[in-house]
Amino acid sequence: MISDKANRIGSSPTFKVNAKAKAMKAEGIDVVDLSLGEPDFPTPANVKAAGIKAIQDNYTKYTENEGSPALKKAIIGRLQEDYGLTYTPHEIIVSCGAKSSLFHGFQSLINDDEEVIIPAPYWVSYPHLVQLAKGKSVIVPTKEENGFILTPDELKSHITPATKALLLNSPSNPTGATYSIAQLEALAEVIRGEDIYVVSDEIYACLIYDGFKSKSFPSLGEDLKKKTLLINGVSKAYAMTGWRIGYAAGPAPLIAAMGRIQSHTTSHPTSISQRASIEALAGSQAEVSRMRAEFERRRNYTLMKLRAIPGLSCFEPQGAFYLFPNVRTFYDLEFNGAPIRNSYGLAYYLLREAHVAVVPGDAFGADDYIRLSYATSMENLEKALARIAQALGRLKPTQQAKRVALSNVQTRVRGTVPTDPRLPVQLRDGLMAEVETRLAGDVAFTWNANIAGVIIRLKTNVRHLHDMWVENWAPAPADAEIEPHGVLYAVDGIAGREPRAFYNTETKTGVVVNVDSYGPIRSLALGLAGDVAERHFGAHLLRTMSVDIDGRGLLLIGPPGTKKTDLFFGLLRDSKFRFHASDMVLVRTAGKSVQAEIVERKVYLPTNSVELFGRLAPLFDRSKCENVVVRKEECPNAECLRSEDCRLDRGSPFCYKGSKDGQALLDPDWLGGPAAVVRRTALRWIFVLRNDATSPAVESPRPEDALRVFERGESPGLKKATAAPPHPFFNPYLLVSSDERLELEKGFFRRLLPNVETFLLNSGSAGVEKIKEIIGA
Ligand code: PMP
Repeated sequence: MISDKANRIGSSPTFKVNAKAKAMKAEGIDVVDLSLGEPDFPTPANVKAAGIKAIQDNYTKYTENEGSPALKKAIIGRLQEDYGLTYTPHEIIVSCGAKSSLFHGFQSLINDDEEVIIPAPYWVSYPHLVQLAKGKSVIVPTKEENGFILTPDELKSHITPATKALLLNSPSNPTGATYSIAQLEALAEVIRGEDIYVVSDEIYACLIYDGFKSKSFPSLGEDLKKKTLLINGVSKAYAMTGWRIGYAAGPAPLIAAMGRIQSHTTSHPTSISQRASIEALAGSQAEVSRMRAEFERRRNYTLMKLRAIPGLSCFEPQGAFYLFPNVRTFYDLEFNGAPIRNSYGLAYYLLREAHVAVVPGDAFGADDYIRLSYATSMENLEKALARIAQALGRLKPTQQAKRVALSNVQTRVRGTVPTDPRLPVQLRDGLMAEVETRLAGDVAFTWNANIAGVIIRLKTNVRHLHDMWVENWAPAPADAEIEPHGVLYAVDGIAGREPRAFYNTETKTGVVVNVDSYGPIRSLALGLAGDVAERHFGAHLLRTMSVDIDGRGLLLIGPPGTKKTDLFFGLLRDSKFRFHASDMVLVRTAGKSVQAEIVERKVYLPTNSVELFGRLAPLFDRSKCENVVVRKEECPNAECLRSEDCRLDRGSPFCYKGSKDGQALLDPDWLGGPAAVVRRTALRWIFVLRNDATSPAVESPRPEDALRVFERGESPGLKKATAAPPHPFFNPYLLVSSDERLELEKGFFRRLLPNVETFLLNSGSAGVEKIKEIIGA
């Protein structure tokens, strides 16, 4: 129901941390909140009175869309007085907070894919505002040793023909860094020579300390004023965050465009707030000076306390009301066995253990830091800093071996791809010509796999696919003398073709085009191996999840929706059962004996299996993985994101549950060695699964009836509308469905079924306990 655009956007991290702190307070926990950028002072009395008077005067109707003329006049007066800037009313727009001015500004400036240069650390909302305007953020990290100031060279080297604007924020949220006049002049020189604009967010301009000298960017020259959208507001300077008044000053056509958009989004901001803001901007500025002096005192105190914490360093900011300490040295320390790995982990630890709310630096594009707001009372600051110092002091060097980074590849193609099992000759020749050009000697990886005695050669130009292939299969001699039973080409980068797999049974050739994920390659390899094994070795590849108990094998067979995976892991939670296969087994029959063995060295498992079998998580940490979510912005799980309990927020470096496309290539031996895993088992029971409300919990079909069920490959009773199309013999890897091939399959099941016990189990009403009861376990 929710649009992709909305799903992709997370809510503001500062508001989120703040909400958590409030929730803890509501539970009676004494949390000190340093998360929100908001002065703790009351709005000045004269300003409040002006608001109350506006209500009394019935100034409660629509005003002009771009803001009332009287407020514009007050804004113009303030800009003139503070910076000597001269604007006309057409060059001013008033909006619902500076945030709203920024939103309308980016909407008005940016064409699709145009770039905005954003120095990092940046205020959390900038990249989202650019994204909502369909522009591209070009994040340019600044250096702490440069005082978090963007240098002219750093700016120059990131300007491209697509650059539309530079975002400047001085004093900065989150670092407090403030550009000196010389530093601004140096950037101005670069801007002068380029056809780009500056969005200058000066919302903290009133809060600069120690007599530090800075300037408003457009005041550097008339030429620069024409290229600058100046953003400011009353939130921070006048302790008026909740009144929601911000404004923008800039070239009249740009302001007019913003006005047109604003006329459809918010209209003008609240009339009452506009009246109060006139008083704020045009009235006495004594309160601003008083607050500034108090913030300076708090900055000095907080900075001193932070710098006294062993291992922590902190840049001394010239403005705003934030400190941005570097906390890198605390990463990989642990508390009660849980290591802190990043800024999310540290912020979470401080909230839980020290009851202090801070914002993780990663939200500002700088994971080595956390942000503290000192716009709260001295008493709160004293309490918070003592708690932070104590909590950081309790962290201990971790006992575990240092964790190596997760081996994880994000693939472009995810899930299954369509397979064409009858690659026609005409198409084949054209396709193979394209494939060959992509596999020119020095870009190709080649490796022979031994899949149940079937030798399949992979040729690919994708390193990841080669890596997974080598890891997954037993090796076969790779030299030229070996003539493989089949060849599989996996070629990426063929222009104009959709991801697709092809197979030709006569030549035993598989081709996978423009696929960079392992699943489709593995499926085709299994299909190819099954085709050869069935025709030439009289062995059969069976799609199943299987377990062993005392040397006897139990298979679970059924299409999606029949709870196969739940039952499989449900059985494995009982240590009597040993892991055999999670997807595919090779079955050979010899008289009454039926042997099932695995054909892969590794187990290719969806990582969200951890929800059913928690023991897998530390094993996946060591496996080769695909598409495990490591960045929240890339998490496709909208439902989980909305629950606002994200493990990445708690400091986990990745989440196995976030994406259904997460896959791991797991070594089954890691599950616990011979006591927990078998490679071969004597097949004894087959449970064909269905899931419906009416059929009996268990039935024992006669072999000929069971054969019909297998032939149809359809779970009896599964609702047609929701079920995937049936695969004969429940085998989606069955590439060939000629009469001759299907007859071979049938022959196999005719030999198999009299020698095993087959049950139809309704997983809608029967579970693991029923299975155990049937087999007497
Ligand atoms: N810009 C910056 C850098 C900010 O820190 C904030 C508030 N946190 C804003 C803009 C938005 O302020 P307003 O309350 O006026 O929307």
